[in-house]
Amino acid sequence: MSDNILFLAHVDESGTGLPKAAYETLGAALDLAAQLHGTVTIGLVGEDVQAAANTLAATGAQMLGVSGADFAYPRYASDAAAIEAMCREVSPRIVIAPATSRLQRVLPGLAHRLKACVDTHISSLSLLEGVLTAKRWFYRQRLEAAIQRQARPWILSLDSGCHAAWSGAPAPADVHVLAVSLPAEAKRTRFKCVSVPNTGAQTIRPGAALLFVAGAGWCKKQSDGQTHVREAESLILDFLRESGASLGGSKSLVDQSGENQAVLGFMSHLNQVGQTGATPRHPKGLSTCCHGEEPHVVGWRFINERRAVNLDPNCGWARGKADVLYVADAFQVMAKLNSLLAAKLATTA
Ligand SMILES: Cc1cc2nc3c(=O)[nH]c(=O)nc-3n(C[C@H](O)[C@H](O)[C@H](O)COP(=O)(O)OP(=O)(O)OC[C@H]3O[C@@H](n4cnc5c(N)ncnc54)[C@H](O)[C@@H]3O)c2cc1C
Repeated sequence: MSDNILFLAHVDESGTGLPKAAYETLGAALDLAAQLHGTVTIGLVGEDVQAAANTLAATGAQMLGVSGADFAYPRYASDAAAIEAMCREVSPRIVIAPATSRLQRVLPGLAHRLKACVDTHISSLSLLEGVLTAKRWFYRQRLEAAIQRQARPWILSLDSGCHAAWSGAPAPADVHVLAVSLPAEAKRTRFKCVSVPNTGAQTIRPGAALLFVAGAGWCKKQSDGQTHVREAESLILDFLRESGASLGGSKSLVDQSGENQAVLGFMSHLNQVGQTGATPRHPKGLSTCCHGEEPHVVGWRFINERRAVNLDPNCGWARGKADVLYVADAFQVMAKLNSLLAAKLATTA
């Protein structure tokens, strides 16, 4: 039997395309189909799927959709019904979806309904001696597993940042829209609003070229015996604004807000990098006033080029965890860096 792949995605918040992770996952699904000599069908869910489908027309793939006001927002019952209907329509051997929070919530339930197997947070798909092999990380990126399964359907969700995004010229797409009627009990959960932490500034930028990490040292007493938290805030915010970097934090720093210490107002637990935090993917990283402990640095697994600024020449970064360590005062380094960036921006403006 040839391997038919169903690629599943949901429309993004703008209603005109898909989340970035979905275009990356589509790239992986198309690559896999070429290796397996299989086919890809695209299945979309959202209030109106046509505009998003148009962005995928150049794939030449058959397209299915489930749409309407009932499918506008993430909800287990309606999303599960929609993607189950699309799976029953094409009976795929392999289902591939981006690991967005909306789909991650639904895929295990889908697997149960289809008597399928499911593996989540996959980082790559390839053929190993002709056998489909999915890889994922365990124990916060310390162990990599290569998974092969005989069971079909096999449902796989792919993490973001693991494959180049597919792109093609938009064109009118022919979408076969499936009618899915929901029973009353599938509509009991209602979407009300999106709540986000009020951190004052948008500091998490997954697409940034640089990850800038602040550690607890920024709020500690400095050589004059005083803390300089307001100065630290403006140095960091100026740098983020001028460089476009994304902001990460160490656990010690983000925890301080709960310990009644002077804190950086824009830093929340969402910024935390490490074993109990995030594992962001950026080409470069710059760590400041952070010691470079193993539970923190494990979150740097996918940062390609690492630099750190620390007063302590014997800090964790010095022991092979950074490519370059500047033994220096981060307040002075960042002030100099900001003035260089401002001068560069002034000449290019
Ligand atoms: C199970 C477990 C899970 C954990 N998970 C995480 C995690 O997910 N993420 C995480 O970050 N940590 C995690 N930790 C905590 C981790 O071990 C460290 O305690 C933490 O990362 C230390 O944070 P820090 O380096 O900011 O602070 P500190 O250890 O206090 O280091 C501050 C540093 O700032 C430097 N400094 C001070 N002033 C300046 C200056 N002016 N210029 C330059 N440098 C200066 C000092 O030299 C010092 O090295 C975990 C720990 C455990 C046990």
